[in-house]
Amino acid sequence: LIAEAGLYKASDQVIILSPENVDSVLYNSSAARLVMFYATWCGHCVAFSPTWKSLARDIKEWKPAVDLAAIDCADESNRKVCTNFGITGYPTLKFFPAFSSNESMGQQFSGSSRDVRGLRHYIIDKLEKQHEAWPPACPPLETASEAEIDNFFQTNNVKHLVLVFERKNSYVGREVTLDLLQYENIAVRRVLDTETSLVSRFGVTDFPSCYLYYSSRYICRMKVLSEARTFYSYALQRLPGVVRTGKHQTAITDPINNSTEEWRPFNKTSVYMSDLESALHYSLRVELSGHITISGDDLTALKKYIHVLAKYFPGRPSVKSALKIVDNWLQLQNGTEIRYSSLRDVLDNAVQTSDAVLPDGVQWVGCQGSQAQYRRYPCAVWKLFHVLTVQAKEIGSTDPQEVLQAMRGYVSSFFGCRPCAEHFESMALESMDHVTSLSAAVLWLWSRHNRVNNRLAGELSEDPDFPKIQWPSPELCPSCHGVKRTGEHHWNQEQVLTFLRNYFSSDHILMDYLQ
Ligand code: FAD
Repeated sequence: LIAEAGLYKASDQVIILSPENVDSVLYNSSAARLVMFYATWCGHCVAFSPTWKSLARDIKEWKPAVDLAAIDCADESNRKVCTNFGITGYPTLKFFPAFSSNESMGQQFSGSSRDVRGLRHYIIDKLEKQHEAWPPACPPLETASEAEIDNFFQTNNVKHLVLVFERKNSYVGREVTLDLLQYENIAVRRVLDTETSLVSRFGVTDFPSCYLYYSSRYICRMKVLSEARTFYSYALQRLPGVVRTGKHQTAITDPINNSTEEWRPFNKTSVYMSDLESALHYSLRVELSGHITISGDDLTALKKYIHVLAKYFPGRPSVKSALKIVDNWLQLQNGTEIRYSSLRDVLDNAVQTSDAVLPDGVQWVGCQGSQAQYRRYPCAVWKLFHVLTVQAKEIGSTDPQEVLQAMRGYVSSFFGCRPCAEHFESMALESMDHVTSLSAAVLWLWSRHNRVNNRLAGELSEDPDFPKIQWPSPELCPSCHGVKRTGEHHWNQEQVLTFLRNYFSSDHILMDYLQ
């Protein structure tokens, strides 16, 4: 609880230090650590915290080799730890190499830039200096020679060898190497433009550029939208046979479905009405049914949820009529509480006439998972609310907050996954109120969903056949992605908005498999 009171939470991908864990995290660890000592009341620390969080998201894949930590020195219980490390000003950054001894005070940050890119390069520079304390999980970062590459498959048992050709001062090769650190069947090596014999042998003309090397006679250049780290890493993590450590092999075109249900073939790039209707059924008849009575904030949340559904759900006419009936009934309930059984009565009786129907049961299509524990309802909840934010924009709601606040209320009061609800609430608390236009609402939900994707990538709950990516992928929306002059990836938000308005628009929702 103390940790949650500071500027960081464990869900920010930052290790929260305390007197109890500081020794085990910093000393004799197989991974290096970069630690921020800060004070909650210090304005610079507050201003710096978004950078630290972005960095943590950015190098999440590097964790087995190097990880970020933070400690709030303003917290009384942490004072002794901060004093022992000689901290007198905030924020202070210290690097602890892997296997640091328990006398180590850490190495004071000496980089020149404290933005995400500068910090990432600083970390790489520090890692490279650790000849004796090399983190075992860290692949080689030095440049590869022709001899190493020619003999590579004799000494390594991997399927893909990736060569990033680049200039000496480029970090792309090392960044991609670390991005792939948790992936099996693949190794990445950087080759300098000065390795002239390899450069001319393979006809390399662009630096950086990325090649897949299979043997001295078979090498091919990887086609990407931009010659930059994010695009290389994204494409490499999805090569056939490349799997995240601990995950089963993915079969991209033919998902392995171990559930007893029959698999419904679907187009991965479309939204299906069957998922949206299934989400309605599940939320109204299953999730809500856990609440015998509904009152106070929960009742307000329910009313707002049903109201936005009645206004914006782009469903079949009979479903829209049904939602309107439920909405009208709810708005007439002036008491402080309702019983779920009364709502259920409306859902099952008042509503089920020939021209007003709420479909009964679930039939997942685009939200099917390769196994029963994956995807389904939470997937459809996301899609439902993306559709609603887009519909509110198309129809022209007068309130940019309307759909987002309805989602916030529903998730907070009823969404069965309570840790999910807490995380979502903390994101809402941070910035939902700043949304002042309908376009911004569409983009807010998209970017927060991506944050959740980032946090969950590689977790056990991730369906191996549907990896969590920063969405939409470069294949799905090439114009959404761009590269800054510094080589950093950036989202072209205008293009993302256009893409989302099209992707989640009522015109593009597929009606296959509806009962
Ligand atoms: P989902 O993330 O459910 O996405 C569904 C579909 O939406 C994708 O297939 C894709 O087509 C599209 N999509 C993906 N990203 C975006 C985007 N950025 N914008 C628009 N569309 C996109 N699970 C946890 O384990 N921990 C949590 O804290 C957690 N919090 C959650 C909070 C909320 C509000 C919700 C609704 C779910 C949460 N979940 C959480 C569940 C998790 O986010 C996924 O929904 C679940 O793991 C199923 O994943 P999926 O592969 O179907 O993709």
